[in-house]
Amino acid sequence: CGIVGYVGSKAAYPILIEGLKRLEYRGYDSAGVALLANNKIQVFKKEGKVAALEELVGEQEVPASIGIGHTRWATHGEPCDRNAHPHVSNDGSIAMIHNGIIENYAQLKAELEKKGYTFKSDTDSEVLVNFISDIRTNNDCTLEEAVRVALNRITGAYVILLLDENLPNTIIAARKGSPLVIGIGEKEHFLGSDASPMLAYTKDVVYINDYEMVIVRPDELILKNHTNEKLTPYVQRLDLDL
Ligand code: GLU
Repeated sequence: CGIVGYVGSKAAYPILIEGLKRLEYRGYDSAGVALLANNKIQVFKKEGKVAALEELVGEQEVPASIGIGHTRWATHGEPCDRNAHPHVSNDGSIAMIHNGIIENYAQLKAELEKKGYTFKSDTDSEVLVNFISDIRTNNDCTLEEAVRVALNRITGAYVILLLDENLPNTIIAARKGSPLVIGIGEKEHFLGSDASPMLAYTKDVVYINDYEMVIVRPDELILKNHTNEKLTPYVQRLDLDL
């Protein structure tokens, strides 16, 4: 299982696909991407190999220069198209990918269902994206704040990446227990489970620690902890070749 992300001025889709292929060695049963262009989120996801995802997208236009990609290793819900990531919030505005397990998802799901939320998948991850969305609606706060509140209320392990259709050049990401690396390019950033998806573009990387979140834009990388303190990213130059 793995995650990739890109925000910059290049076409995101080929970078995501290439990155997912580099993470294939980690094992997975499904793959998917979410792309954001003109304030619209496009999601493509498919059970099977990354090649099956590419076949699904085919010749369709994917103009975005921001996007997130996922390979899934099913823990909650069988491997199938419906359970593949990304998952989108009920209001359609947030797309999220997740590696890991949300341990208290059943209780959160029951609470959300009481409020009228519906679920298309059997995953714990779709519960989390709606939990975040619900917090944002109730508190009338930013996505970043809603993510922080949600992460303080869940138990489990995760790396998550989120796109918001109202934030045209921002990826929000966080981790606890699953790896996350950010690659720093020229007015562009890459995200990955390891550095392999970004090595063709940059050797300057930041390894994110547990209980940290990042707000990533083409020309900006903001690192924070779960109590909203800003941290200084430690940039390492990798001495690695593809
Ligand atoms: N628990 C999530 C699911 O079953 C994520 C699995 C993963 O790590 O890929 O969809």
